[in-house]
Amino acid sequence: MFHSNCDPENGLDSFLKLNWNEEQPYEICFDKNEGRYLKATRNIQPGELIIEESPLIRAPVTGGTTLGCSTGGSMICLGCYAPLKGGWISCPNCGGTLCSAKCKDSAEHQMECSFFAKQNMTITADTNLLNPYDLILPLRILSLRKSKPDLWKPFWKLMSHQAEFKQNKEWMEKQKPICDFILNKMKIPDVTEELLLTILAIDSINGRTMNFGGLKMRLIHPLSSLISHDCSPNMNKYFYGVSSGNYLQIRASVGIKKGEKLTICYYDALMPTFRRQKMLKEKHLFDCNCGRCLDPYDLGTYGNSLLCQQCPDGINSPPNWKCNKCKSKRDLPLQIVEKATNEAMTLLTDKTKWNAKDIGFYLQEYSRSLHPNHMLFIKIKSKLCSLPEFSREQMEKTKNHAKMEQKIKILRENLAVIEKIQRGISSVKGTVYIIQ
Ligand SMILES: [Zn+2]
Ligand SMILES: [Zn+2]
Ligand SMILES: [Zn+2]
Ligand SMILES: [Zn+2]
Repeated sequence: MFHSNCDPENGLDSFLKLNWNEEQPYEICFDKNEGRYLKATRNIQPGELIIEESPLIRAPVTGGTTLGCSTGGSMICLGCYAPLKGGWISCPNCGGTLCSAKCKDSAEHQMECSFFAKQNMTITADTNLLNPYDLILPLRILSLRKSKPDLWKPFWKLMSHQAEFKQNKEWMEKQKPICDFILNKMKIPDVTEELLLTILAIDSINGRTMNFGGLKMRLIHPLSSLISHDCSPNMNKYFYGVSSGNYLQIRASVGIKKGEKLTICYYDALMPTFRRQKMLKEKHLFDCNCGRCLDPYDLGTYGNSLLCQQCPDGINSPPNWKCNKCKSKRDLPLQIVEKATNEAMTLLTDKTKWNAKDIGFYLQEYSRSLHPNHMLFIKIKSKLCSLPEFSREQMEKTKNHAKMEQKIKILRENLAVIEKIQRGISSVKGTVYIIQ
């Protein structure tokens, strides 16, 4: 879990120094199997602010941003993250994309710029193997090592799972062009493959990719990254955008007792369990055994269940998928859920499908196979209610009472399910009220 040169039990206070909160209601603990985690040191009230943390490192990531004009992706300023739709300039020292000359000297851009300038190279040259924005994050992390050792220390103490990542062919393939460029082309002194792969592994485990209105950012908040995962957690996280410095707030969603472990949900709690577990295994390398994952009925919601095809009211639930009425076993249940999940994800990400016809088609298609409270239905129905034709203004204008009633019914049903999964205060619930 931890790489060499990192004693996980020592120097935990270097994380605490990152926090503004002098009287934090938690302590950092260590467990041989689980690694580090946070535990409440007093009773905590629902809604209480537990952590407010600025990112140690932030950088643009690809899949939305492209440096240079070649692939038509959107470009951003490496100093202030402004989208560069109109004009832009190349940094005279490194060739990076900037909105104006003043951003050349921004502290964040200097982190990568100084490496390029020292090695007498430019960002845009010789980078045809990869999207150059992918270099920004590792270079910014590397720059901490010499220039800000007080920040490098807690970063280096984060879990890396480096040995497991090195065995993962796909992960290694993804890192190869970055390593090749930094090691063989930039030839930065004192940077070894071992060091670079450890940095990239620490980022893979602890970093988060967030989408702020189309701008994808990779953020590392070291203290918050020590918090354990639970699919029905006792805290919620709130990310703030670029203009607010991308800080992260973590608040208690329910009352937490002294001695309880503090938890957040690393991924969307409204994903079907199999998909959440797959993401946790792939990205965080662990099998989630939380109370919710172990409950076949998804905390009493039937959020992962299917409707029996052999009898009228039967329900098939994981892991054995046996009907609760006629006891018949469902054929290929995971294939059904996987197909429904993939189609739901397409529907939720493809803007051309955000209309009542396509959404209605999905709901109709799966109404005989997914339980009405299935997590995918909750997500898709929320999308339906957020369509412009379901907006309050539009409905007031058209005086379409039937539609209004339909929307209120859907949102109430959704809320009843979400209440069971996201205990206490939750931004997802807040969103439901806003849509209402
Ligand atoms: Zn700028
Ligand atoms: Zn520069
Ligand atoms: Zn879980
Ligand atoms: Zn049945």
